[in-house]
Amino acid sequence: SSSDDQLSSFLKLGIYQLYNANAVFIDPVRILNRSYTNFRVSPSKYYSRSFSTSPNFSIESHNSASKSSKKRKRRQKEKKKYIALNSREQIADQRHQEVRLPLLKAHEELLGASELLEILRNLRRNDGEEFDGESISKESEELDFVELGSVWQAPLYEIVLKVVEDGEAVKDAGAKSYYQRFPVFDNLVENEGSNEREAELLDHEYILPKNSCFYMSDLKQIHNLTPAESDCGFNFIAIDPPWENGSAHQKHKYQTLPNRYLLSLPIKQLTHTVGALVALWVTNREKLRNFVENELFPKWGVKHVATFYWLKVKADGSLISELDLFHHRPYECLLLGYSLGKSGPQTHQPGLTHPNPGPDLGPGLEMNPEELLRFKHIPDNQVFISVPGDYSRKPPIGELLLDYVPGFKPARCIELFSREMIAGWTSWGNEPLRFQDLKYFLRS
Ligand code: SAM
Repeated sequence: SSSDDQLSSFLKLGIYQLYNANAVFIDPVRILNRSYTNFRVSPSKYYSRSFSTSPNFSIESHNSASKSSKKRKRRQKEKKKYIALNSREQIADQRHQEVRLPLLKAHEELLGASELLEILRNLRRNDGEEFDGESISKESEELDFVELGSVWQAPLYEIVLKVVEDGEAVKDAGAKSYYQRFPVFDNLVENEGSNEREAELLDHEYILPKNSCFYMSDLKQIHNLTPAESDCGFNFIAIDPPWENGSAHQKHKYQTLPNRYLLSLPIKQLTHTVGALVALWVTNREKLRNFVENELFPKWGVKHVATFYWLKVKADGSLISELDLFHHRPYECLLLGYSLGKSGPQTHQPGLTHPNPGPDLGPGLEMNPEELLRFKHIPDNQVFISVPGDYSRKPPIGELLLDYVPGFKPARCIELFSREMIAGWTSWGNEPLRFQDLKYFLRS
């Protein structure tokens, strides 16, 4: 049956289409595993410790009297707040009202996929291992790349890649292997092999996916990634900036950046001549949405064309928070746009003198509608659902968006502010090796 096909394809690829809604359910662990042959991502390390695993977890306990009365109080509080919504909050609420239905529909479809829900409960389980294989002992030993990269010795640190000649199995005793050393900071380190490679840095082990590279640096060095020739640029650019607002700052999980620094990101310069799909994660703050739509995208030369939503659920399929809670939405937004790149303005009709020529066109330059025609139409309000990973990791969405990438395949993909690596991608940020630490992997 089609639901059997759905399920077996989910088990293999990590993507389950919810056909009656504009939605998919994804398992980031299975998607990430496509980058590896001899290793796999440890589900118990990927998924948060708060992932609900209790077998006693049931609808009854969910609706327990105390909880529902708490909820009622909270709802009343929210209602009171609503009356006092300022104009910005009203716009935010309007946006929410527009996506409520697609989100509810997606969630309803998920709850109807009973065979998927069964698997969902066990996503965190490491097959073939003791259920909770957490080695807390190693927890504190992770390298802090931001700190390491800021000391005077940073240029001296080297990563050592173990290269096993391609076409030979690693376990094959005859396989030839040798070591390559590269500066780890401010340097493009590449694994061009068709298998993942093990690497060592200061007595820590990392796994580099097949056909991937990273550039670990501060924002100041990002221009080193902009290609000399625009036909060497990227046609897919994913960005999850360290926005100043929101929870990250409060919890001090990572450094944040003021908006003015994000305005200076060289998106045009990174864009390939065929153009690029730009996918930008934003938080639910209206002030930020406003900044992105009216300042950031125009400055980057990006035309916003659609918005997708990441809906977060628990292991039992329930939403991580009530849909209508104003300050704790159970979803995040991914803004999608197209970048024309550096050559964009030159494609304007000759004879039309542009009021503000030069590479930096500043706000106010609209991509003209004809230019947009060469890009594929992206349906609005698509929803992808997953159980959130630990450390507020975003799910890997590249695979879901490949259809909309302009130009050639395989796409040239780059992720900015990345904390992980993926096959076929260049990862840039001040800690792109963060989740490549061996402790997040199992040998398969
Ligand atoms: N998408 C990532 C994930 O799912 O794991 C999370 C990215 S997180 C929102 C932002 C990242 O930007 C953090 O790793 C942070 O250390 C990094 N970052 C902050 N300031 C930076 C800077 N000045 N230069 C480079 N990276 C920076």
